[in-house]
Amino acid sequence: MRWPDRPQATVTQALTACTAGMQDHVEKQRLEGLLTQMQIAEASYLRCVGGTDLHALNTSPDLLKGQQPKDKEALVRAYDQGLVGRKDGRALYDSIMAAAPHGECPLCGTGEVDTLDHYMPKTVFPLCSIMPINLVPACMHCNHGKGAALAGSPDTQPLHPYVDQLGYERWLVADVLPTIPASVRFRVQARADWPPSLAARVRHHFDSYNLSLRYGQKAGRHLAGSRRDHARLLALGPDILRHALEEDAESWALTDPNAWETALYFGLASSEWYVNGGLLQV
Ligand SMILES: [Zn+2]
Repeated sequence: MRWPDRPQATVTQALTACTAGMQDHVEKQRLEGLLTQMQIAEASYLRCVGGTDLHALNTSPDLLKGQQPKDKEALVRAYDQGLVGRKDGRALYDSIMAAAPHGECPLCGTGEVDTLDHYMPKTVFPLCSIMPINLVPACMHCNHGKGAALAGSPDTQPLHPYVDQLGYERWLVADVLPTIPASVRFRVQARADWPPSLAARVRHHFDSYNLSLRYGQKAGRHLAGSRRDHARLLALGPDILRHALEEDAESWALTDPNAWETALYFGLASSEWYVNGGLLQV
């Protein structure tokens, strides 16, 4: 998974973009009247993420304001109509989506980005509805799967792609299973330099987005397509095949050390069963 760069725009700039060209002056005045609350919420948000106490976001009183029904509806509309649908707002929306490397969803590392996910759900935290740091590029699968539920404990707080630092070392591992045909199970191997809470959150993220299954499906299809090439290399000897798999793994690792492809190739190269003929099982 590769994290996008954090948006530089502020909530003040986002509101300006959302309300540019707005015909409904009552709505525009209502939103402008909420700007101070949005700015205070943004400052609190930045304080929480600066201290990496993301779970504190759930109970921050500054973020929980803006709940008067008409205010809340206007704030949600500011996103749905202003940021998604109006020209200046859409330009900001698109720029945040475009920050995802290779258009790949940072939450799963497999889907294509086609929406923005509210890290803090807008239905619960309407003041965060157009706050750029709260908007994360995502695929539809991840966006729909997450819902509006809040983490019940710090260990189940979702990863925040703009905030959480997972480092550049490998932590995604693929175990090749001697099944017919070969299958792969992906898992998180927590790094020694991660605090226990981060290790718990990465595992929770992995489970809640069903990444073991999703990566396993991708790997299964990939193995089926690679079988002929791998069989040809195996005919030259297991060491030739292993070396080729290691080369592929190192090549993928240059792009992303924790891509499912990187983990897959390292897993294949270290599987005695696979490189000694397991791949030929059908
Ligand atoms: Zn995704």
